[in-house]
Amino acid sequence: MTSETSPPATQASTAQSQALFSRAQRVTPGGVNSPVRAFKSVGGSPRFIREAHGAYLTDADGHRLLDYIGSWGPMILGHDHPAVREAVADALSRGTSYGAPGEGEVRLAETVTRLTGVERVRFVNSGTEATMSALRLARGATARKFIVKFRGNYHGHADGLLVEAGSGLMTNAEGHLGRAAPSSAGVPEEYAALTLVSEYNDPVALDALMAERGHEVAAVIFEPVVGNAGVLIPTPNFLAALHRVREHGTLLIADEVMTGFRLSLRGATGLLGLTPDLICWGKIIGGGLPVGAYGGRADVMNYVSPQGPVYQAGTLSGNPLAMAAGLATLQVLENEPALYVKLESYTAQLAGGLSAAAREAGVPLSVNRVGSMLTAFHQDAPDGSIRTYTDAARSDTAAFARWFQQMLAGGVYWAPSQFESIFVSAAHGEAELSRTLDVARAAYLHLGRGA
Ligand SMILES: *Cc1c(COP(=O)(O)O)cnc(C)c1O
Repeated sequence: MTSETSPPATQASTAQSQALFSRAQRVTPGGVNSPVRAFKSVGGSPRFIREAHGAYLTDADGHRLLDYIGSWGPMILGHDHPAVREAVADALSRGTSYGAPGEGEVRLAETVTRLTGVERVRFVNSGTEATMSALRLARGATARKFIVKFRGNYHGHADGLLVEAGSGLMTNAEGHLGRAAPSSAGVPEEYAALTLVSEYNDPVALDALMAERGHEVAAVIFEPVVGNAGVLIPTPNFLAALHRVREHGTLLIADEVMTGFRLSLRGATGLLGLTPDLICWGKIIGGGLPVGAYGGRADVMNYVSPQGPVYQAGTLSGNPLAMAAGLATLQVLENEPALYVKLESYTAQLAGGLSAAAREAGVPLSVNRVGSMLTAFHQDAPDGSIRTYTDAARSDTAAFARWFQQMLAGGVYWAPSQFESIFVSAAHGEAELSRTLDVARAAYLHLGRGA
């Protein structure tokens, strides 16, 4: 899937990216440090990025690309936001890491607890570390072994969570669906056996699983709005079933690594009126630097060392540059609540525009959107009707790949997989919206002609 899907015009002018990719492949597995970046499910060679400002990336060949990835979520303010740049520069002038506590950690923790209502928060370096640590905590606090997750939800790459996982695991090199549990080689079946899997948006299945196994389940972990199977929105009945798991003494863990501070200042939890026992964060909480966090009620969080018996540590945790970037980002979001209104309005117009353009071109498309997260599934279903991993998996990934390549050739950098959300930033304005819809219209027409 290379030459047919990649327009020759851009192939000719991506020499620098291609040269970098060749060099990278000689020194790094697959040439990338995170799988979806390699463009395996859409074909062609990935663009190497030289710099990023506002809503735009500049690639190694000097092409300006309108960015809908936003580093997969963190860049809600747009790239190189002045407040974040200045905060990081200020922190940089005072050294890069101390291995001892500093005020930045206290200030970010105070902000996170105030905004989200958790009583205690611990900072780590990635979303993966946050979910992994929250599960250890849940097991330590309940003295139980099993956890429950949902098909197509992605919680990072810790062993026990690579079971029926979404994100890059939903597609492989051939664009087929990923394997059944475990989702990765190298995860012992014995680990995977401690992870029970249920279907997202199926309250009956969750109730049945909990009735049978609930007494041995430490935690149920879930994406409050799924981004990693494409966007899936929870139904009220499913949310009610999630809350019922606590009747079994099980802790409820909301993985807000993607949705936290994106869907609202209180995340999806605030938007949907959820009351989880623990919440995990990543992405926006670090403002583009590597930060993750987990938090919750004091009585649960006090199991974490050195307060309690559940060990968790990190050489660079609470890093002063990362804390400064996260704090500056949250401060802008808090001081400018109109940003969420703008994100909502832009993304709603984008969703409507994509639907209309696809319909006019005769291309089957089903758009799921909440706040500034959106997935346009290439399949014939009403907008908003895709609810589960199984629904999402019916999408025509080959059609998506052809559409993606047309968008990229037109200078619009969409997420290079059918099963990902795109992310709108505060730097996306009217000009970006109309340009995106112009390029998308042409791309759907191209697809509709069977090209
Ligand atoms: C991105 C993501 C993770 C993993 O975070 P990393 O920082 O990539 O380790 C976990 N959970 C969800 C919901 C995510 O979107």
